Amino acid sequence: MATQLILLGAPGSGKGTQAARLVSEMGYNHISTGDLLRNEIAKGSELGQKVQGIMTRGELVDDATVLELLNANCDLSSGSYIFDGFPRNIDQAKSLDEVVIKNANHTALYFDIDLDVLAQRLVNRRTCGDCGEIYNLISKTPKTEGVCDKCQGTNLNQRKDDNEESVKTRLGVFKSTIEPVLEYYESKGALKRVNASAPSEEVFKEVKNTVK
Ligand code: ADP
Ligand code: ZN
Repeated sequence: MATQLILLGAPGSGKGTQAARLVSEMGYNHISTGDLLRNEIAKGSELGQKVQGIMTRGELVDDATVLELLNANCDLSSGSYIFDGFPRNIDQAKSLDEVVIKNANHTALYFDIDLDVLAQRLVNRRTCGDCGEIYNLISKTPKTEGVCDKCQGTNLNQRKDDNEESVKTRLGVFKSTIEPVLEYYESKGALKRVNASAPSEEVFKEVKNTVK
């Protein structure tokens, strides 16, 4: 079976952008726990109502809820997956192994970047509500203000948790949970690092070389 890819990195480190390119150019399936949770909120489901406040504040949803959602939405027999946003702590890393990955080949890719630059990236991030394309008001502006280059849609939205206070919480949570996760994959010989502060094109080249 082909390699399963686990993306590790702080909020704003570019995991989502790179995942989208890997999907379109290399045919991976993409699973983002953040997207799954936001879908539940958009649907107004019971689960969505439960997690809405937690996510807006930038805190973590409980492990069992996220694991269940993840497991219900991926089937490794249908090919290679990119796991984006999961695992976020060591318990989730172990659960991912036990429940989802099992004996499948896998690589964990760490998007290495100085955390101090991320707050600015995140508060300036906008996402096309129609096609999901990601923009940044400083480094990747749409050609026409307010209009998506890709689909011409005019819903360039700011995520509810991309405000200064929630961003601070998200980065704080990341700092306090990531080390044991990195050590876990390192000790299995499954960890690779990419320099995520390079321009997006270069990061993609590095990512591609890493997963080949
Ligand atoms: P980011 O990495 O930029 O914060 P995500 O879309 O990955 O964005 O996650 C957004 C929010 O969704 C998180 O702040 C958290 O509340 C929730 N979430 C996503 N994945 C997980 C997870 N694996 N465990 C717990 N909460 C999660
Ligand atoms: Zn669009």
